[in-house]
Amino acid sequence: MTKEDIKNIKQLLATPKNIVIVPHKNPDGDAIGSTLALYHYLIKDKHNATVIVPNDYPNFLKWIPGNDHILKHDSQTETCETLIKSADIIFTLDFNAFHRTGNMESILAESKALKIMIDHHQAPDDYATYMFSDVRMSSTAEMVYHFIEMLGSTSRIDSNIATCIYVGIMTDTGSFRFPLTTSKTHKIIASLIEKGANNADIHNHIYDTNSYEKIQLLGCALSNLKVLPEARTAYITLSQNELNTFNYKKGDTEGVVNYGLSLKNIVFAAIFIEDKQEGIIKISLRSKGNFSVNEFSRNHFNGGGHTNAAGGRSELPLKTTVEKFISILPSYNKALNND
Ligand code: 5GP
Ligand code: MN
Repeated sequence: MTKEDIKNIKQLLATPKNIVIVPHKNPDGDAIGSTLALYHYLIKDKHNATVIVPNDYPNFLKWIPGNDHILKHDSQTETCETLIKSADIIFTLDFNAFHRTGNMESILAESKALKIMIDHHQAPDDYATYMFSDVRMSSTAEMVYHFIEMLGSTSRIDSNIATCIYVGIMTDTGSFRFPLTTSKTHKIIASLIEKGANNADIHNHIYDTNSYEKIQLLGCALSNLKVLPEARTAYITLSQNELNTFNYKKGDTEGVVNYGLSLKNIVFAAIFIEDKQEGIIKISLRSKGNFSVNEFSRNHFNGGGHTNAAGGRSELPLKTTVEKFISILPSYNKALNND
C-alpha cells in the first residue's frame, strides 16, 4: 500500500460512508477478530459499517465485542445483499479471491463499491482498488493494526479494538509461536494489552471452553493418527460417523491437525475430515520449515493458503482421498527431507 493510497483512503474515510466488511467462508479467529476490529474502528469514526460473514463460525468466538452485530449471509441473505448493493466501500479481509466467500462470490464480484483488501494469503486476485496484501504478516488482524497505524490513528485503539486484534493475532500465530511471529508482533501485542486487551481472559474464552464431547472427539482423532516416517508425514482422518458419535459442532476440530506436527521428525501433517452434507473431504495441511503446503494444496487438492498452513478439499471418498495423498508423497521426498 503506497503513501498515495493511504492519502486517498484517508480522504475517502473523512466523511461517513456505507461500509461492508467481509471475511472468508467458515471464518476463524483471525477472520472474526480482524473484521470486528475494523468494524469498531470505523463506527467510532461515524461510518455506517457492518460485518457480513458468509456463514456461521465456532461458538468459542461468539463472546468477542461486536459479535451480536455480525450478519450471516447464508441465513440473512436479503438484508446482507441490500447492504452490499448500497455499500460505498467493501473491505475484504483475510482472503485473497472472491470464491473464498462461497455463495457471496457473485454479489461481491458484481458490486460496484470500491474494494479494499487487507490479507496475508499467497497469490491474491487483482480485484481491489486498494490492496494491502503481505504474506509475511502473521495475521490479518496484525495488518489491521498496521492499517490503523498507517492512517495515523493508533491513539483511537480502545479496549474493544485491542481485544479483537489480539484474538486474530493469537489464533493465527498458534499463541505467538509460528515463524511469522516477529518482534513487531510482540510489540503490537504489548500495546494491545496496554490499551485494554485482557490476555488471560481472551485465552480462556478461546481455549478453555471445550465441551466434554470435543475432547472425546480429539481422543478419537489421535487414535486415528498415522505416521509415514520415510515422508516425515503424519495424518489424521475423521469420518462423518465419528463426528456424529461425538456430536460434532463447528470448530471442534480446529487445531487438531497440529498434533501430527508435534511428533519428533515430522515436518508435514494433514487432517482429512468427511463432510457428507457438502459431499467433500475437508483437508487441512500444516508444515514446518520450507515445505510449502500452499503449493501442495494448489497442485493436488484445490486449495491454498500459506507456506506452513493451507486448506484444501477433495470430492473423492475419504479412503480414496487418503490413498491419493499417500501416493503423491514420494514425489515430494526430496522437499520433505531437505533440512
Ligand atoms: P485451514 O486448514 O485452517 O482451513 O486453513 C489454513 C489456512 O489456509 C488459513 O489461513 C485459511 O484461510 C487458508 N485456506 C484454507 N483453504 C484455502 C483455500 O482454498 N484457498 C486459499 N487461498 N487459502 C485457504
Ligand atoms: Mn488469517
